Amino acid sequence: MKLVFATHNLNKFKEVQSLLPDTIKLVSLTDIGCHDDIPETAATIEGNALLKVKYIKDNYALDCFADDTGLEVRALDKAPGVYSARYAGPDANAESNINKLLDNMRDMQDRSARFKTVIVLSFKGEDILFEGICKGAIISQKRGDKGFGYDPIFLPDGKNQTFAEMSIKEKNTIGHRGKAIQKLITHFLQIKP
Ligand code: IMP
Repeated sequence: MKLVFATHNLNKFKEVQSLLPDTIKLVSLTDIGCHDDIPETAATIEGNALLKVKYIKDNYALDCFADDTGLEVRALDKAPGVYSARYAGPDANAESNINKLLDNMRDMQDRSARFKTVIVLSFKGEDILFEGICKGAIISQKRGDKGFGYDPIFLPDGKNQTFAEMSIKEKNTIGHRGKAIQKLITHFLQIKP
């Protein structure tokens, strides 16, 4: 069975393909000739994942799935949340986003935060949502050089390594995206498409 994964992120694409059973062959946006910047203008993480899936359905009429992730900091009312990628502005990168977050949290005692991933699967006319949460804390100085985004300042609960100090395998085992993907895989194993 072929299934479009609506992402331009090649690393994510490979990571997810490696986790799926051989019966599901992922198709990339490039494979279907989609080079557009799919709009991510919704006010929620769920909304953005749904927007991406709707874009593929409307323009290509193919079964697909999409994901969206945000970092939610409790003391900041769940910011940066859906705006995680552009927290420091339109030209933001991981470093400027991290610096802005650490600045905003400088005197905060409550450092608790969580990553949330939502995957929306659109399959045979039905949309299904899968959620993955990883709870942890924002530390005040960067640690580690692996991973991406906010990984160097996110310390998962019960661990003494940040996401940026862990192997990809370990991050996937306890991480938000890995958990959401596992739910997607379990779903496919149940329905045996
Ligand atoms: P996306 O929806 O997966 O593109 O994620 C949006 C933004 O959230 C990214 O640009 C990163 O800044 C951040 N982010 C998402 N997943 C992770 C992660 O696993 N670690 C660190 N930051 C992440």
